[in-house]
Amino acid sequence: MITSHRIPDSEKSERSLLASLQTARLEELLSKIYKLNQFYTRKLDDAGINPDTVKTSGNDLNAILNKLPFTTKTELVTDQEANKPWGTTLTEPIEHYTRHHQTSGTTGKPLKWLDTNESWQWALECWKAVYRGAHVGSKDRIVFAFSFGPFFGFWTAFEAAGQIGAYCVPAGGMSSSQRVALIEAVNATVICCTPTYALRLAQVGHEAGGQPLANGSVKLLIVAGEPGGSIPATKQRIEQAWGARVFDHHGLTEVGPISFECWDNPGFLHLNEPEYICEVLDPKTLKPVTDGEAGELVVTNLGRTANPVIRYRTGDIVIRQSKICSCGRTLARLEGGVLGRADDMLSIRGVNVYPTAVESILRRFKEIIEFRSTVSFDGTLALLSVEIEIMPSTDSRQLVGRVERSLREGLGLTVPVLIVEPDSLPRFEMKAHRFIVENGNP
Ligand SMILES: [Zn+2]
Repeated sequence: MITSHRIPDSEKSERSLLASLQTARLEELLSKIYKLNQFYTRKLDDAGINPDTVKTSGNDLNAILNKLPFTTKTELVTDQEANKPWGTTLTEPIEHYTRHHQTSGTTGKPLKWLDTNESWQWALECWKAVYRGAHVGSKDRIVFAFSFGPFFGFWTAFEAAGQIGAYCVPAGGMSSSQRVALIEAVNATVICCTPTYALRLAQVGHEAGGQPLANGSVKLLIVAGEPGGSIPATKQRIEQAWGARVFDHHGLTEVGPISFECWDNPGFLHLNEPEYICEVLDPKTLKPVTDGEAGELVVTNLGRTANPVIRYRTGDIVIRQSKICSCGRTLARLEGGVLGRADDMLSIRGVNVYPTAVESILRRFKEIIEFRSTVSFDGTLALLSVEIEIMPSTDSRQLVGRVERSLREGLGLTVPVLIVEPDSLPRFEMKAHRFIVENGNP
């Protein structure tokens, strides 16, 4: 891999300078969209805000932010339902838009999100920050191991890779074994996929040919779409299976690619703050939390003027650290990546449980190939159980005892563990659904 990873000045500027740049760009964004973007004009008017009067409040970013209303996904979905097909969030006439993407709709109706050539290019520049952070450059051969559906993350990753001069291999519409063969045929150096699928591909590769993946050309897996890339046990498992490094990042269709892991400090995701204003707020009070405390990530994207989000409540629970990083970046970092989603949290017998907590425990057991957690209800009482597929020739009774003990210690709950037949649990290429809630709200 080439080392075209010099940190640009914008990623290591003084935080006060960064805040004044963000303030100027926020003011510019508000001026550009006011009266053109119906959705935000309505919200700003309802909040009694005129972009011209916001400007006169001085150069204090927080003072401006505090006046602005929040945006929720429910609002966006409701707006699209009421104003089919695109809602009222577009700043420009529909003829200017060139890219249609939509969310997977796993937690509700899919949200369509459109870009113009200009806003699309902005998103690609954000992806280039991910590649730069991952030390990926023009000498790399990247295999994109996923189906190219209308999913924003795939297409931006692919096109940005082309723009930095990398050799780009789309691997949509293929079986896992065909993808493994393709990775080997082109001596891929980088794989882009979900953490779950990285494990699946490794398993298929090892079954097919023994060692080629572990001793092969792949140096790096850039993962996203699930929290696994920052769950230490999952990450370690992928790295061991591939003999390659895992690099995490995250983004959302309606927001853009927003974070990338620190090369020098794995487990911390830098926020691309030159392009996004990132707040971490208490999800109940919506007041800022201090560094080191968990809160909800709330985002304003500064360069997607054609279809922006302002103070968007992502639902992602994160812990921010704002101290300067030893890599030289002044950009704030998310400790442990995205820890979970506010709406994923379940209360089970009085204990708050995130699906990531279950995964982080189960992935420590190398004998477990696949798993599924199920929350069922006995009246109003929620019960959690776990099914596991295990490696052949494992002492199953002994393993069940160890797993149950770890779950009890890690979660503070007694969780029954059941061994199921090999290959009986679903495998995932896209976002994995290993946390099933029966007769309840997922
Ligand atoms: Zn860093």
